[in-house]
Amino acid sequence: MLSDKDRIFTNLYGIHDWHLAGARARGDWDGTAAIIARGRGAIVEDMKASGLRGRGGAGFPTGMKWSFMPKVSDGRPSYLVVNSDESEPGTCKDRDIIRHDPHKLVEGCLLAGFAIGAHTAFIYVRGEFYNEYLNLQAAVDEARDAGLIGQNASGSGWDFDIVIHRGAGAYICGEESALLESIEGKKGLPRMKPPFPAAMGLYGCPTTVNNVETIACTPTILRRGAAWFSALGRPKNSGTKIFCISGHVNKPCNVEDELGVPLRELIEKHAGGVRGGWDNLLAIIPGGSSVPMLPKSVCDTVLMDYDSLRDVRSGLGTAAVIVMDKSTDLIRAIARIAAFYKHESCGQCTPCREGTGWMMRMMNRLVEGRAEIAEIDLLEQVTRQVEGHTICALGDAAAWPIQGLLRHFRPVVEQRIADYRASATSRLAAE
Ligand code: SF4
Repeated sequence: MLSDKDRIFTNLYGIHDWHLAGARARGDWDGTAAIIARGRGAIVEDMKASGLRGRGGAGFPTGMKWSFMPKVSDGRPSYLVVNSDESEPGTCKDRDIIRHDPHKLVEGCLLAGFAIGAHTAFIYVRGEFYNEYLNLQAAVDEARDAGLIGQNASGSGWDFDIVIHRGAGAYICGEESALLESIEGKKGLPRMKPPFPAAMGLYGCPTTVNNVETIACTPTILRRGAAWFSALGRPKNSGTKIFCISGHVNKPCNVEDELGVPLRELIEKHAGGVRGGWDNLLAIIPGGSSVPMLPKSVCDTVLMDYDSLRDVRSGLGTAAVIVMDKSTDLIRAIARIAAFYKHESCGQCTPCREGTGWMMRMMNRLVEGRAEIAEIDLLEQVTRQVEGHTICALGDAAAWPIQGLLRHFRPVVEQRIADYRASATSRLAAE
C-alpha cells in the first residue's frame, strides 16, 4: 500500500487549509522558479521519464503529448486547457482536487504552461461544481496576488495567467474538442480529427488539453524527480492514482494508491470491503461507466492499471470503481447507463445518434425480458456498428458497457427473457 510520504494529494479529504498558506506549508510553490529555470525541453523530458499517463481516461503519455507542441511560435499563441468537466458517472476525483488542493492545480498550470510555451491556461470547470469553482478562483487570485502567476510568474521571467471557464452541464463538453468549442462560445460538438489540438486547438491555435489530476501531479513529479514517480506502480503504468470507489462497499471513498494495486486489496483496505463480504460480490465496473464490467472471478485477481485492465477487455478509464453486489439487477444497471449515453449524445453522427437510442430501447425491453433470444445477438451487432464508427469516443462509451454485460452475463439476460415468456404463458393460461 502507498506510504504517506509518497502521497501527492496530501489534502484530498480537506482536513487541512487549502488556501495559499496551507498549500505552501505542505510544500506547494516550493522552488517553482528553479524548476522553470531548467528549461522547456528538460521539463518535457522529465515528464516523459516519469511515465505519467493522462489521468482523464485515455492514458496517453503526458510528456509525449507536451512534446507535440510547437517549439518555435509561428505567430499564434499556444494554450494550455485543463479539463475539469468531470461528468463520468462514478467519478469524483477532480472535484476533490479543486476544492481541497487547488494550488496543486494552479502551480501545475504554470509549469505545464511553461513547458508547452503557453502564457495562458483555461480551466474548464463543470458547471455543477459551483463551490469548487469558488475555491479554485480564490486559489488563482491568491497566486496572482502573491506574484506566483501573472507577469514574471514566481520570479521566473515567464508571464502566465489562468482563466476559469464554467461549463453548463453537458457531458459531451468533457470531450476535448467539444470542450474547446464550448470555450469558444459555440455548441459543444466534438470536432473531426485531424487536425489535433496541438496543431489547431483553441481559437485555431496550438493547444494541449490535460485532465485536472494530470496537471495537479506535475509539480510534485518535477520537484521529487521522475525516478521517484516511475518507481511507484508498475512498468508503463507508473505513479499513483486517485481511485473513486462507490456502490456496494461499506465505506465509499476517494483514495490515492499506486497504479497496479490489486482491485480486491483496493476495496478491502480502503473502502471497508464489499457489503456482505467479498463473496457477495457480483461485478465491478473498474473505470467509470464507459468501460465494460468485470465478473467477480476476474475481480479476484486483476490489477488496477491501464494495461492489466486492457488485458481483461476492460479499462482503467477514470479509475471510478463501481461495485455491485449480488442484490444488483445488472440488466437494469446497464440499461440506466444506456439511457445516460442516449441523453448525452450530441446527435452529430448517425451511428451514435441512432445507435444510442436503439441500444437504450433494447436494454429497456431486456430489463423486463420482453424480447426474443435472437435479439441478444442483434444488440451485440448494434454495439459493434456504433463502436469505432463515430466522431468521438462517446459511441464507444455507450457500446462497451453493453458488450461487457453480454460477454460475462449473457445467461442472466437469457434467463430474464425465459422468465418473461414463462410468466406471459401462465398469464395467458389463467385468462
Ligand atoms: Fe456526438 Fe455521439 Fe458523434 Fe460524439 S459520437 S460526435 S457524442 S453523436
